[in-house]
Amino acid sequence: MDWQQIFATRNNRMKASEIRELLKLLDQPDIISFAGGIPDPDLFPAQAFQEAFSDALTPQNQATALQYSVSEGYGPLRDWIVEEMARLGVPCTRDNILITSGSQQALDYLGKLFLSPGDTALVGWPTYLGALGAFNAYEPRYDRLDPETNRSAADYAKEAGEGRVKFAYMSVDFANPTGKTLDHAMRERVIDLADALDIAVIEDAAYQSLRYEGEALAPVLAREIERKGDINACRTIYCGSFSKTLAPGLRVGWVCGAQQVISQLVLLKQAADLHSSTINQMAIATVARAQFDSHVTKIKAAYSARRDRMLAALEAHMPEGVTWTRPEGGMFVWLELPKQINSADLLARSLESERVAFVPGHAFFADGSGSNTLRLSFSRTNEALIDEGVARLGRLIAAA
Ligand code: PMP
Repeated sequence: MDWQQIFATRNNRMKASEIRELLKLLDQPDIISFAGGIPDPDLFPAQAFQEAFSDALTPQNQATALQYSVSEGYGPLRDWIVEEMARLGVPCTRDNILITSGSQQALDYLGKLFLSPGDTALVGWPTYLGALGAFNAYEPRYDRLDPETNRSAADYAKEAGEGRVKFAYMSVDFANPTGKTLDHAMRERVIDLADALDIAVIEDAAYQSLRYEGEALAPVLAREIERKGDINACRTIYCGSFSKTLAPGLRVGWVCGAQQVISQLVLLKQAADLHSSTINQMAIATVARAQFDSHVTKIKAAYSARRDRMLAALEAHMPEGVTWTRPEGGMFVWLELPKQINSADLLARSLESERVAFVPGHAFFADGSGSNTLRLSFSRTNEALIDEGVARLGRLIAAA
């Protein structure tokens, strides 16, 4: 049967990335991998989860834990998030929060909520690959969100052609893939631009809690509330996640935004999967309530030492002509190589001769550019191996 013929057109842009296929093969023990941007499993609070799951399964709790529940999410977890958002400068109520199965699901729902085929999504060049993957199903056009230039709202609107610009998406703190953070002035500028275009802002805060140095910046949503007085008057939609702080495998994230947006997202969630796993939400609520801050302090100490080691190793081993970012948090460093070096070719050679893995950068660009860029993650590699891996990579680039 020719399945392709009956697949809906929205599938046309959903392709397995060659790189992901290649990286799947990387579980061999002799490879030093800077590829996956994932938490170190040795840092998971497994014992706390063991107790939380046990507690959820006692006779008095099991009827809640194993039962269907509401699409909005588990009440006590939403309450904890309300407190957390208030700490970040975002006063809100339960009605401003929807629990999702990871923030990835929030990106899918937001694509579904806003994008008709041909509408424009503004994204960074580069941007989080998973956001492009989520939005692609809704057949948008992409335009480059570039708050550092003085490009006017009219320019953005003109580029949108027949469709309409619908939102600006940004990973704001220690972005995936660049590790960069949007400063105060740029956050303000994005709100101005969104006001002028009358569009939504999707603030992806997946790494927000993982700051290793410098002062925390108020979320875009907090800055917008300061201007407009009330979250329900704001156009910024904040996507949070427990994946980088507690555990990605439980698939718990959240959306915080104006009630009107949350109510519509609740309808989408009802139609898609009814609700996120009740027991997982209960366990996250228990562990977050007991030890979110102390646990985050612990993982930050480990990740920040690895970041320091990677930055020192880059300084020591990279040849002239290579530049890189100096992230204040998160999991990633972004490298720019001399123009003529293609990082996908480099990966193939690196795997063969140096046994070092990384992610070539071009997949993070909606226009397919960036062939001389690459992403290194330091979150899962011990410090001695970071040094050795960067040294090997430096040798390979110098010879390229
Ligand atoms: N946003 C960004 C920027 C990410 O890097 C990731 C995970 N790699 C996600 C969202 C999705 O994370 P999750 O669904 O686990 O919350």
